[in-house]
Amino acid sequence: MLLLVLVLSPRSVYHSRMLSTSPSCTRRRFMASAGMAAAGSALGAAPATDPHGTFVREALHWHAAGPRTVECDLCPIHCTTEPGERGECSVRENRDGKYVTLVYGRPVSMNNDPIEKKPLFHVHPGSRSFSIATAGCNIHCTFCQNWDISQKRPEEIPARYVAPETIAQLALQQRCQTVAYTYSEPTIFFEYMLDCAKAVKAASLGNVVVSNGYIEAAPLKQLAPYLTAMKVDLKAFTQKFYGDHCEGELQPVLDTLKLLIELGVWTEIVVLVIPTLNDNMDEIKRMAAWIAKELGPDVPLFFTRFHPAYKIRHLPRTPARTIQLAGETARAEGLHFVYAGNMPGTRGENTYCPACKAPLVERYGNVVRSQQIANSACPTCGHTIPGVWE
Ligand code: SF4
Repeated sequence: MLLLVLVLSPRSVYHSRMLSTSPSCTRRRFMASAGMAAAGSALGAAPATDPHGTFVREALHWHAAGPRTVECDLCPIHCTTEPGERGECSVRENRDGKYVTLVYGRPVSMNNDPIEKKPLFHVHPGSRSFSIATAGCNIHCTFCQNWDISQKRPEEIPARYVAPETIAQLALQQRCQTVAYTYSEPTIFFEYMLDCAKAVKAASLGNVVVSNGYIEAAPLKQLAPYLTAMKVDLKAFTQKFYGDHCEGELQPVLDTLKLLIELGVWTEIVVLVIPTLNDNMDEIKRMAAWIAKELGPDVPLFFTRFHPAYKIRHLPRTPARTIQLAGETARAEGLHFVYAGNMPGTRGENTYCPACKAPLVERYGNVVRSQQIANSACPTCGHTIPGVWE
């Protein structure tokens, strides 16, 4: 994994990770890191340490489950802890019967990314998204592409305090249209994400979340008014896969997807297709049918090519033909916007009008080559194209 060192002040360095899975974006990585130098000047003005002395804040969404026992209500795991213990995500801790987060204001990664990298294809195409993450995740995927932050405890990665208002300020300075909470699992840094989202919205920018969908309904409802969009990783469409490879469950993710649609949050879905593990076309057909019926045919669905990573290094890259077949299968189930991920230069990266088939957004990797959508409609036939375009 490429690490870029970002000099923020004469006395300190900040390690900024570039997390592209694309091997072909060396120049963009350089440009992004060069852009981050400007971010450094703003961060240099921020306090070197959290004004509270640590990154600790009382957590939201928990309740007492005994004299000094607490139960976390943030995600479907509902960890129960005694004093001194942490939850499954390793960033929330019971301190004498009170639950706290250990990662408030503690980003370990900050990058200026194209929004296509999230990926979100129906949200401000060609715009930039100021992307942040803390350490930690509530599930443990064997194929995680960002395991070196998601599967770490906070104290294992050096960080300095960055206030929510500073995140908004950096996004503005970097000419980003949105702030993205991404790379690891944003649910586990909920308190920080929520305060950032409020500051970002107050600055007239948007917020997008890249999530595994493992969040309870109450916190999602609390966050939703500040969101422009959410991208959810649907790891597979069987409980067996979630159990064997993620230490998680499928149903809570499906519940989150349904709630997002109910709440009116623009939602896109990514499926990382891994050879022999979740590339069965019957499973993909059932998944696409469920999405079309429960969420609607206009929800964009990405089938993304797997590259060997973390604990799954013995399987090959996903054949391009598998991604094409998955796309054809999903379209046959009625989905209007099906994309291919990690397949630069293919038609699967483009947006076409579902009515007249005219090309609307043409892409190469994370680069938008042309954008024809006007007033949220196809300029050829006038068909409304759902998304956040303006
Ligand atoms: S957010 Fe963390 S502590 Fe809370 S239930 Fe989920 S894994 Fe456990």
